[in-house]
Amino acid sequence: MRHIYPTFYHEFRCIANRCEDSCCKDWDIDVDSETEKFYQTVEGALGDKIRSLTITDEYGERVFRSGNGRCPFWNDDMLCDIYIGIGEEHLSHTCANFPRVHIDYGDFQEHLLSFACPEAARFMLREEGNPYRDFGGSEELETTDENEDFMSFLLKARERSVAFLLNRDEPFAYRLADCLEFNAQVQALLNGEEPQPLSTDGVKAGSPDFIFDLHRQFEIMSDRWRQALDETAGQADSLAISKNFGADYEKFALYYLYRYYLEAIHSGDVLYSVKRIICAYLVTGKMDALFASQGYPLPRMRILQRYSKEVEHSYENTEQLNAAFDADRRFDTAPLLVMLEQMGAME
Ligand code: SF4
Repeated sequence: MRHIYPTFYHEFRCIANRCEDSCCKDWDIDVDSETEKFYQTVEGALGDKIRSLTITDEYGERVFRSGNGRCPFWNDDMLCDIYIGIGEEHLSHTCANFPRVHIDYGDFQEHLLSFACPEAARFMLREEGNPYRDFGGSEELETTDENEDFMSFLLKARERSVAFLLNRDEPFAYRLADCLEFNAQVQALLNGEEPQPLSTDGVKAGSPDFIFDLHRQFEIMSDRWRQALDETAGQADSLAISKNFGADYEKFALYYLYRYYLEAIHSGDVLYSVKRIICAYLVTGKMDALFASQGYPLPRMRILQRYSKEVEHSYENTEQLNAAFDADRRFDTAPLLVMLEQMGAME
């Protein structure tokens, strides 16, 4: 099995109580069965507390019951009582691994760091080139399973999509438009259709309000995020995304593409991941424009990191986005292209 990592992967270290948005906040903590078995044997007050706070959630998963949006073992010094009491080796797999993400494609495994971790986000935003250059395309990654041709096709398409996102001669909205147009052709091939040149004649650029409306209906964990979203939505039409935001957003878009594009091996849909990148660009880019005018009450890194935590990491929110792409014609390729072209002209 070939394992592939971005260049910064092995340098990452959790900064624990110096973290500005800990993973011990807002999320339920999954307790895997192997770890729970060990927890049954822990003696004393800590063992009793662990057992009394391990519950089954609405999805049937064993989790720690959170109180006030915090892991119950995250103490007042913002350190973990389980880590302190019985050692790092007895953290649940979720706690031990986050923000590391492993995606197994059979013949190869890709490893990433999640943008929902502020320290990992800093690593990604610092990168000047393409930290995913070792991920390679279809030639480097020879696959042998039954999906070989499909995977090879997707790897080629992903490589080409990355090239569009890295075309630094263009404003970022134009790069997204090129990536979207290309993937509409890829999707036509996947659907067994003859790719046709896409016409946007007569398609009017709409307001981005519908994208904000959708995000405001999502399950939102933080009041601060809801407030930022509401404030940005109220002025979305007049906020222009800056060119230098595009330079940072490129890193988020690359992360996102490597994290999700190959899901098409199961869904047969490459447009889901590209359209989610476009929605995230619009929401975070306009929030960045608003916050720039206010002296950045939430730094740019935190806007992107928080989007990842609130939207990307929520199964429900991601499903709602994909469902809207299927049902709402305003998310079709042509109107999104027109919107991106208009935004690129303003960058
Ligand atoms: S979010 Fe990242 S840096 Fe912060 S506590 Fe979790 S792993 Fe550590």
